[in-house]
Amino acid sequence: MEQGTPIPQPAPGGIEGIAAGLGPDASWRWPEERWRAVVNKVRAGRPLRPTTWPQGAQVAVALSFDVDQETSTLRDGRTSPALLAQGEYGSRAGVPRILKLLDRHAIPASFYIPGVSALLHPDDVQSIAAAGHEVGLHGWIHERNSNLAEDDERELTHRAADVLHKLAGRPPVGLRTASWDFSAATLKIVREMGLLYDSSLMSDDEPYELVEDGEPTGVVELPVEWIKDDYPYFGMDRFSPIRPHTAPSLVGEIWRREFDGAYGERGLFLLTMHPHIIGHRSRISVLEELIQHMRARPGVWFATHEQIARYVKEHASAAHG
Ligand SMILES: [Zn+2]
Repeated sequence: MEQGTPIPQPAPGGIEGIAAGLGPDASWRWPEERWRAVVNKVRAGRPLRPTTWPQGAQVAVALSFDVDQETSTLRDGRTSPALLAQGEYGSRAGVPRILKLLDRHAIPASFYIPGVSALLHPDDVQSIAAAGHEVGLHGWIHERNSNLAEDDERELTHRAADVLHKLAGRPPVGLRTASWDFSAATLKIVREMGLLYDSSLMSDDEPYELVEDGEPTGVVELPVEWIKDDYPYFGMDRFSPIRPHTAPSLVGEIWRREFDGAYGERGLFLLTMHPHIIGHRSRISVLEELIQHMRARPGVWFATHEQIARYVKEHASAAHG
């Protein structure tokens, strides 16, 4: 996800907003076909929530960790050892704590690792993969993919996939974009690469099929949400007013309510965390309490994003016709 001090970005064109306000291209001047084309570029299609989860489970739980480490600092060209140290903490303290916790509860999870983060911490990638967790794409250097030229985005995505394949021993099948956003070319690249799923967009709580310009793509979307992410609650930038304003116990309550809702609706509970954020002692305990809460319920299927994407792709058509 996006982190750190926001840097003003040039209007990228394509599917991002370029026409707010006044002027001849103001969006209120757009004809219907134009605003419809903008909306339809990437859209939620067929719902993919199955009628039942494996073994008759009531809910699917997808825990994920975006292993940004130093890359959200490097992405902006910043060289501060203090900022880099905050990322390094994710590898030295965060990842070992997370792996121990998941191991203790026998829970598989998905780890989205930028290529540069993987090269800085190859042992982490190997430990994650060796423990049976999924390793997925998260950009090269946590670049703002939605602002890249198509050729650059394609080249960086392939380069990152090659690094992850080499270190994890198998090619990644899923993407979580670093910007939690798409450029005009992202979905095209996802389709070219034959990826199974994306997990960056927010049209639903439940899995759905991505539709591009009205055409079903076969690509599964496992949607994220800021409220199911640790960074908005705990993020901090010393030179900006951004501070952690939310008590860990309150974050635990929000996530518990999200899980309880998903359980009641027989749906998906998907959570995004970061080793350098959730890995702190006062926060990892919140995750453990949440896991204990979920473990206490019958019929909870803990799975990687890949397992869930494969399952819903296979079972949704029977469920929804
Ligand atoms: Zn990230």
